[in-house]
Amino acid sequence: MSIKIKNLNKSFGNLNILKDVSLDINKGEIISIIGPSGSGKSTLLRCFIDLEKIDSGTLEVFRSPLVCDKRNPGKKEKTEILKKMGMVFQSFNLFPHKTALENVMEPLIVVDKVKKEAALKKAMEILTMVGLEDRMNNYPQALSGGQQQRVAIARVLARNPKILLFDEPTSALDPEMVKEVLTVIESLRDTGITMVIVSHEMKFVKQVSDRVVFMDCGTILSCDTPDKIFNSAENERISKFLNNF
Ligand code: ADP
Ligand code: MG
Repeated sequence: MSIKIKNLNKSFGNLNILKDVSLDINKGEIISIIGPSGSGKSTLLRCFIDLEKIDSGTLEVFRSPLVCDKRNPGKKEKTEILKKMGMVFQSFNLFPHKTALENVMEPLIVVDKVKKEAALKKAMEILTMVGLEDRMNNYPQALSGGQQQRVAIARVLARNPKILLFDEPTSALDPEMVKEVLTVIESLRDTGITMVIVSHEMKFVKQVSDRVVFMDCGTILSCDTPDKIFNSAENERISKFLNNF
């Protein structure tokens, strides 16, 4: 099991944003989360990496409790758990004054204390893997949105995450750049990395996911195979949502 959440609740002020959410994500599984805007998808992902504090419930990563009603981990333990996870955001968040290569090297050197030479080697290897071997020395402003997002993916990949979270990784991109980013994500399919992907790219979701979670108003309405979700004519809420695409 990669991530296990049980009865997770999260409020902002007196607004109950996540309501008793429970979900088990298996190791190596690709889970997509779909649903209307404001349904709590980003908040759920942010809870996974402790960017949001949950109010109650249990959140376990690789059987270690990250947040738990009964036993909370110490700071060191928590850091170790969080090291296994990486997140890619809609906005690429690259350092503007660093090249693609330096952007990928930075967390390796600063956070993981990898030696400069080893970091350079790793960064070059990963940037090549995402198809940017001839763009390594470019600054973000000289890269297209799709290329910048691929650098952002390379930056988290370089740290050998066991779990990758994507929050609408292509929503800020022009249509012609969406595919190159989705292709990179899809290429990670057989790496054994567990992936949780929030996306509105329904064709991609259908094609790549082992299971699809449909969220609405802070709850999981359904969690099933893509086939079942995309043909769930009996669930009016889901088919109404899917009809928009
Ligand atoms: P989604 O990603 O599905 O669009 P979000 O998780 O971003 O949904 O947001 C769910 C709800 O929580 C929305 O109503 C949003 O306005 C609210 N929300 C998100 N973050 C905050 C915050 N930091 N403070 C207050 N409300 C928030
Ligand atoms: Mg969101």
